Amino acid sequence: MAISNIIPKEMSTLAGVIGYPVRHSKSPLLHNFWIRKYGLNAYYVPLEVSRLDFAEIVGTLPKMGFRGVNITIPHKESALEYCHGVSDRAALIGAANTLRFGSDGLIFADNTDGYGFTQNIRERVPTWRASAGPALVIGAGGASRAIIHALLEEGVAEVFLVNRTRDRAEFLRQEFGAKVIVHDWFALDAILRDALTVVNTTVLGMAGKPDLDLNFELLRKEAVVNDLVYTPLDTRLLKDAAARGCHAVDGLGMLIHQAAASFEIWFGIRPEVDIELRKYLLNS
Ligand code: NAP
Repeated sequence: MAISNIIPKEMSTLAGVIGYPVRHSKSPLLHNFWIRKYGLNAYYVPLEVSRLDFAEIVGTLPKMGFRGVNITIPHKESALEYCHGVSDRAALIGAANTLRFGSDGLIFADNTDGYGFTQNIRERVPTWRASAGPALVIGAGGASRAIIHALLEEGVAEVFLVNRTRDRAEFLRQEFGAKVIVHDWFALDAILRDALTVVNTTVLGMAGKPDLDLNFELLRKEAVVNDLVYTPLDTRLLKDAAARGCHAVDGLGMLIHQAAASFEIWFGIRPEVDIELRKYLLNS
C-alpha cells in the first residue's frame, strides 16, 4: 500500500481521555464508534498521564489539534485548577470529567457524570424517583461528588454517605450541606434498611479489587442498586441485589450517557444511544 494512502490528507481533530492508569478505559472504543458513525475526520486517543505531568500536558494539547479531553482517575478534582472557565455543574460538583479547548487555547471544564448517572437509572428503571426515599452513596471520591450532586438535583431528601476514610465523607458533607449524613463504614448493613437508592462509587468490585459485600436481607425490594463499576459488568453487588429482587443497574449506561454529552460538547452532535452500541462495547 502506498504511504500516501495511509497518511490522512487533512489534519484530524483530536480528542481523548487523560488518566492514570487509562488502559482499561472503554471511552476510546465509544467515541471512535460515534466518530465513524457520523463520518467525522477525528480521532479519540487514550493518554496515560501522571499527576506530575498533568498541567504541562493539558497546556500543550490545545496547540496539537485537540478539541478536548475526558478526565478520569486521578485528575478529576485537580483538573479544575488548570481551567480558564468552569461550568456551574462542574463547580458545584467540584470535579471535571470533560475539558473543551477553545481555538484561542483557553480551557473550559464541565462535568457530565451526574447527567450520565441520572439518564442511566431513568432508562433502566423508568419508575425511579430520587425523591421517593433516602439514598445511600458508598465512596467519597470524584465520582461520588457527581452522584451526590445529581441526587440532590433530583430532589432526594437525604443522602447517607459512607466511605472507608470517614474524613473524606465529612468533607463532602461540608460542601454539599445538611442533606448529606455521614455514617461509619461498619454501619453499612444497618442503614441499608432505609435506603431506596444505593450507589457504589468505590473501586470495590472492579477487576483485581475485592468485592463490595453487603448484607441485603433488610433492603427493600423496590430499591434500586447501581454500581458505577463496569469492568466487570455483573459485579457481586449487582448479583446480590438481583437475588434479593431489587432493581440492579450496571455502570455501562452511565459511561455511555456521560460520553454522549461530552461528544456533543466537542463535536456539536448528540450521538444516538441504543442497544447496538451497548452490545458493541460488551463484545469489544
Ligand atoms: P476516586 O476518586 O479515586 O475514589 C475512589 C473511592 O474508592 C474512594 O471513596 C475510596 O475510599 C474508595 N476505595 C478505594 N479502595 C477501597 C477499598 N479497598 N475499600 C473501600 N473503599 C475503597 O475514584 P472515582 O473517580 O471516584 O471512581 C470510582 C469508581 O467509579 C471507579 O470504579 C470508576 O471506574 C467508577 N466510575 C464509573 C463511571 C461510569 O461512567 N460508570 C464514571 C466515573 C467513575 P478512600 O477515600 O477511603 O480511599
